[in-house]
Amino acid sequence: MNTKSLYQEVILDHNRKPRNYGVLEKPSHQAVGHNPLCGDHLDIALDLEGGRIDRIAFKGESCAICKASASMMTTVVKGKTRADAETLIEEFRDMAMGKLDVDGPHHLGRLTVFAGVRDLPTRVKCAILPWHTLHAALNSVTVASTEAEDDPMHAAIGDA
Ligand code: ZN
Repeated sequence: MNTKSLYQEVILDHNRKPRNYGVLEKPSHQAVGHNPLCGDHLDIALDLEGGRIDRIAFKGESCAICKASASMMTTVVKGKTRADAETLIEEFRDMAMGKLDVDGPHHLGRLTVFAGVRDLPTRVKCAILPWHTLHAALNSVTVASTEAEDDPMHAAIGDA
């Protein structure tokens, strides 16, 4: 299966059956993320137990790429330490922005199906939003926007 059809298959599959979709009762950390360019809106809630992401769930109104990215993200970071999750957040962001050598060393595994978004400037933020929101939640920032002034992503991508 080539990369493009694998990508489409993953997007379809996660939209049909989003993993960890729903609401957590009394999460230890949560954040809301917005991507005004597309209209994506996401809630991410998680429990950090002994430094590990014990439970995680997401909910929201978003496009297919954003939803698939969120769904896959929750399955990958569940059980990971906060530090490992932060590493993945950075790597995913760099990959989506075309700054990561996908063939080089990284920890993204099957998340590399999203590597193609780097060639779709309008979709980059859709794919990154869940990761951006997870980062905000882990750092106890309750609202994240892809358009925030202090957002390094914003500066790097611009309004392309
Ligand atoms: Zn979107």
